[in-house]
Amino acid sequence: MRKITILGATGSIGSSTLAVIAKNPHAYQVFALAANANVNDMILLCLKWQPTFAAMADETAAAALRLALRNQGCKTEVLSGVEGLSALAAHDEVDTVMAAVVGAAGLIPTMAAVKAGKRVLLANKEALVMSGQFFIDAVHQYGAELLPVDSEHNAIFQCLPQAIQSRPGICDLAAEGVSKILLTGSGGPFRYTELDVLQSVTPAQAIAHPNWSMGPKISVDSATMMNKGLEYIEARWLLTQAASSLR
Ligand code: NDP
Repeated sequence: MRKITILGATGSIGSSTLAVIAKNPHAYQVFALAANANVNDMILLCLKWQPTFAAMADETAAAALRLALRNQGCKTEVLSGVEGLSALAAHDEVDTVMAAVVGAAGLIPTMAAVKAGKRVLLANKEALVMSGQFFIDAVHQYGAELLPVDSEHNAIFQCLPQAIQSRPGICDLAAEGVSKILLTGSGGPFRYTELDVLQSVTPAQAIAHPNWSMGPKISVDSATMMNKGLEYIEARWLLTQAASSLR
């Protein structure tokens, strides 16, 4: 039984994670759930999953969640702020942390999980893109286990030799028989859009990805191909001798 903290529990990845856990109740126990300000969804999630802890980055939201849960007789203890998220990522009772906060806000709590030597399921690619060598060094220094959740990276990771899987960011791919890794891209909602039309597309069109149902930021990043750039950097750090060879 793995005890898991889900950072970004109210988001797209958070929901998918909880759906997987619901199908494998013998394998995972939800220890803590964390989000930013979405109190209504967090109330529902806490009542359903009865985690030991919850955290909201937004202080006002945390107070509202605490009050609502107390009124409903739910024993979940509510923490707040980035310190609250970090405490739940590093908690002694947790062995696995799903890092699924969106954007730069994910860095500090994800790093807290790394420094506590947890098994880190990394969806928050921005944390790795932002901190690169610092992040990878911490993974090795603190004995954390880093597993990519981003779909391309996860699929590639599962195909790679064990030696590379167990030493993210420092393994010599060529020495392990891997000559090239290709990241594919579907092209998103604007794949067939004429260049002159792109100037007038809207966020709503960008979010309507033809293949995937994802959170708004990554959907827009996918539509602009920015996401592929982030994924490239993420892949270099996760899968190759990255530091000196980023190009
Ligand atoms: P969503 O926008 O659906 O969810 C974001 C989550 O992060 C929510 O739980 C949100 O809480 C929380 N959050 C936002 N800001 C903060 C903050 N300041 N502090 C704490 N929590 C915060 O995003 P996704 O699930 O789509 O993406 C999550 C991460 O996974 C991103 O890094 C993305 O690039 C990556 N990813 C996503 C994929 C997907 O299929 N969705 C695929 C591959 C990678 P609240 O609801 O309270 O705002």
